[in-house]
Amino acid sequence: MPETYPKIDIYWSFEKDKAKEYKVAFSHLVFGQIDALGDSTVGVAIVEGMRRAIPIAIAKPGLFSDISSRLSMAALFSDDYFPAILLEQMYYDAMRTNPVVRTNIYHEIGHFFMKHVNRNPDNAREIAAGRAEAHQKGEVFWQEREADAFACHYVGKETMIAHLTELKRVTRKLAKIDRQFSNELSIHLEEIDQRIQLIQQAF
Ligand SMILES: [Zn+2]
Repeated sequence: MPETYPKIDIYWSFEKDKAKEYKVAFSHLVFGQIDALGDSTVGVAIVEGMRRAIPIAIAKPGLFSDISSRLSMAALFSDDYFPAILLEQMYYDAMRTNPVVRTNIYHEIGHFFMKHVNRNPDNAREIAAGRAEAHQKGEVFWQEREADAFACHYVGKETMIAHLTELKRVTRKLAKIDRQFSNELSIHLEEIDQRIQLIQQAF
């Protein structure tokens, strides 16, 4: 876990009264980020100590094949490896209408800030393997626990649990629609329950 927690500012395009602030935040994105994500960018996070602003974007179909099984993910993007937070459309809709769901952005930033997601060529494979191994043991992958604890620092335990409860609801809804991912989604539902338990026990 980090010794000090960075200041984090998050701006959303849908917050009409903050449209100007969003525009300023958007201007912090580098050309490659805007180029790759373009109109699908719906928010920007500025994290103290991180070299680049982090765009929050709706994942375009086919961009990341596993996005529907996750709803959201912290991803390193393009040849230049810039960070981005990608959201599945249904999850973004939930986020737009329910502020509690936006807790998840702190979780994803935690993955970047603690360098879980990094430029190591084996990174994605190691994360997938670590997650699968933890699931087999009936545990939550340590990176997920750390990212949850990171998010809790900003929003508190109650909000974190409310967010995970809502995440479960959206995941169930998606599982009904998207049969292709239903096995992965059921694994995720188990994991979310375990994460809620860990947060209840931890503080
Ligand atoms: Zn995570």
